[in-house]
Amino acid sequence: MRLRNIPGSKEAIDASDFVVHDSSAQKGHWQELFPSPSPLYAEIGMGKGRFLMDMAAAYPDRNFIGIEMYSSVLIRAIEKAEKRALGENAPTRAQMIHSARAELQGGGSLEDASADSAPGPDLSEKRESFLRSCNFRFLRLDARELESAFAPGEIAGIYLNFSDPWPKDRHAHRRLTSRQFLKRYETVLQPEGTIEFKTDNIDLFRFSLTEIREAGWELLAYTFDLHHDPELNTGNIMTEYEEKFSSRGNKICKLIARKPD
Ligand code: SAM
Repeated sequence: MRLRNIPGSKEAIDASDFVVHDSSAQKGHWQELFPSPSPLYAEIGMGKGRFLMDMAAAYPDRNFIGIEMYSSVLIRAIEKAEKRALGENAPTRAQMIHSARAELQGGGSLEDASADSAPGPDLSEKRESFLRSCNFRFLRLDARELESAFAPGEIAGIYLNFSDPWPKDRHAHRRLTSRQFLKRYETVLQPEGTIEFKTDNIDLFRFSLTEIREAGWELLAYTFDLHHDPELNTGNIMTEYEEKFSSRGNKICKLIARKPD
């Protein structure tokens, strides 16, 4: 997913409290960011963030970091996070961009920008209170740079959902389940750490099964039809893409694999 460039989205991301801005300073210290030190899970290629935020709500005893490389996509996840924090009073994307730009010019704030259309409680206080108990954050990062942001063994589990298929052979190394990426995951995952991968793309799924075996990972479970697999589908949290593709009748594949000892 690479959405149309949204002018000002980079500034709005830089101004967002939901985003970790200096990931290399956070390396080895991710736990300090969250209300309690709990196992850290990452979704790589988070897209608009619904899966990540639903997982965070379903598993309050875990911490989550949503990784997305494109500003035009991340801004949409921030918009959703603002909605979860502030409900109807949440600023729109346009308001976020407006206030980030105004702040850069030395005046205005997100609250000023949203106050015109949504007067009400002190939004900044409400957002801060939400953030104090919030077990998720976002990070704008190309996953090729994963090791610059996470210390060895810092992550308990990685989710890969509907990753871009990169169908040409010469682009295989760009697939998020390629051996090149598995090596990076192996470094940042804790011993026994796992990846969970969902896709509706059979070719990408078969490729991933092969890469996982050849890289020496242990395949713990897999299915070619998640929504009719009583075991793997239990507690399944849908992503935006999963909802879209399964509603068209596409079968969803899923695998869970553990890194080599
Ligand atoms: N996971 C979401 C879902 O299932 O609804 C979005 C899926 S979308 C097809 C794939 C996302 O992965 C896009 O938003 C894309 O920008 C992101 N992505 C692709 N390669 C990436 C990389 N190397 N690092 C971080 N994000 C990446």
